[in-house]
Amino acid sequence: MTAILWFRRDLRLDDNPALAAALASGSPVLPVYIHAPHEEAPWAPGAASRWWLHRSLQSLDRSLQERGTRLWITRGDSLAELRRIVAATGAAEVHWNRLYDPRIRERDAAIKQALRADGLRCESHNASLLFEPWEILTAQGQPYRVFSAFWRNAARRLPDIRPTATAQDIQWASIESPGLAIEDLALCPRIDWDAGLQASWTPGEQAALNMATRFLDARLERYGEDRDRPDVPGTSRLSPHLHFGEIGPRRLLELTRARAADPTEDPAEPFVREVGWREFAHHLLYHFPQTPTEPLNPRFADFPWKQDGTDTRLEAWHQGRTGIPMVDAGLRELWHTGWMHNRARMLVASFLTKNLLLPWQKGADWFWDTLVDADLASNTLGWQWTAGCGADAAPYFRVFNPVLQGQRFDPDGAYVKHWCPELARLPLKYLHQPWTAPTAVLTAAVVTLGTDYPHPMVDLATSRKLALAAWETLK
Ligand SMILES: Cc1cc2nc3c(=O)[nH]c(=O)nc-3n(C[C@H](O)[C@H](O)[C@H](O)COP(=O)(O)OP(=O)(O)OC[C@H]3O[C@@H](n4cnc5c(N)ncnc54)[C@H](O)[C@@H]3O)c2cc1C
Repeated sequence: MTAILWFRRDLRLDDNPALAAALASGSPVLPVYIHAPHEEAPWAPGAASRWWLHRSLQSLDRSLQERGTRLWITRGDSLAELRRIVAATGAAEVHWNRLYDPRIRERDAAIKQALRADGLRCESHNASLLFEPWEILTAQGQPYRVFSAFWRNAARRLPDIRPTATAQDIQWASIESPGLAIEDLALCPRIDWDAGLQASWTPGEQAALNMATRFLDARLERYGEDRDRPDVPGTSRLSPHLHFGEIGPRRLLELTRARAADPTEDPAEPFVREVGWREFAHHLLYHFPQTPTEPLNPRFADFPWKQDGTDTRLEAWHQGRTGIPMVDAGLRELWHTGWMHNRARMLVASFLTKNLLLPWQKGADWFWDTLVDADLASNTLGWQWTAGCGADAAPYFRVFNPVLQGQRFDPDGAYVKHWCPELARLPLKYLHQPWTAPTAVLTAAVVTLGTDYPHPMVDLATSRKLALAAWETLK
């Protein structure tokens, strides 16, 4: 008998409940990966995610080889592939860790039902969240719509949360079929745009653990002060590792506890609370599965977005050529590294949805393709929150001012100077608003607006007023 361990976005051996359950069956374990992006459409992994996935699979396969086996890789319909592997190996059990994207949930439920009908033992487990999305509910048994209340309830239960121990002495099933090579999945870009990603990241379980350890040792103490500063490496940058399950939030919590005994108190609290936002994002996606495309607040369904000239405005935003330095810095960081600081994500999203009046879904689509941490739950929450149409929404009328935000969170201009080097010689006074610089200052800094750096696409004050007027129409 064999127990199939179906890897998905849980690309690790540590703290892996599906692996633990497969081992507990007493049968040799067969590690399998099935490539089936068509089953996730329209949320199949974007280009940056595919880049990551390729390397993460390589890393997992290397770890398995070090332990005397390897990953059996196939492509096609997941159920058909699982049945094929069952037939080839005589497997009696299938284990996997749960995902919460609506399409995947539906698929997995159907697969579980079909395999059980085939007579197999088939179980799913929780590897990617501290709490299942259905565990934390209001006193009335309803889902939360406000983060603070959700987290008050959830945080009380943190003492019970522990990772699953790393499995030792695993007995692997022998792999008969050669399967596919990772290269056969064609995940890597055909044109060579990924140099920035390569320079910025090392996907894989060991790298995730190293990142977590380095962050907790060196930065946890100051996280509360530094987390909003895109000019400082103050956050963990663990988001892609968490998304692909190279490290689980339970292990992360345990590692945090080892440095700060109570995760609900300083210095751990601000960090663990952010991990709580990830939980909240999954809670919302689970209970409101329509939200990747529809506003949670239905009042926003009729919002008068400014659709004319969309392509040109969207392209300038994509390219980080809006003429607003903090916005451009964020968008260029994204394009170059596949990641953007959270403060910059809020600024670029606010600029798109409020100053340009473009639909938040257009921004979410771009993030989906370009972020290495693109995650349906967190991306949907982030965009709806910033656009003001989601849970716990920043009120629509709170329009971020990227100049003031730049002066506050990039006070020395290091972030803007790094990503918009053409502005680097401007005095700090004008760096976040080059259009206000006198001609002589621009000349001395070798900046010609409209040539070296764009004029602002919109006037911030006027576009803010237009956004508020558009919002008034919903009342
Ligand atoms: C418009 C917009 C879109 C976003 N899209 C995504 C996305 O596709 N994928 C994604 O992982 N995050 C997304 N976020 C949330 C957040 O920006 C990133 O999780 C964070 O910047 C990742 O950096 P870090 O790992 O250094 O975070 P840290 O500050 O070190 O936080 C630790 C972990 O907590 C989680 N986390 C932190 N903040 C948030 C948050 N606001 N919402 C949900 N989880 C959070 C992440 O898993 C993160 O790795 C988005 C935010 C906005 C405003």
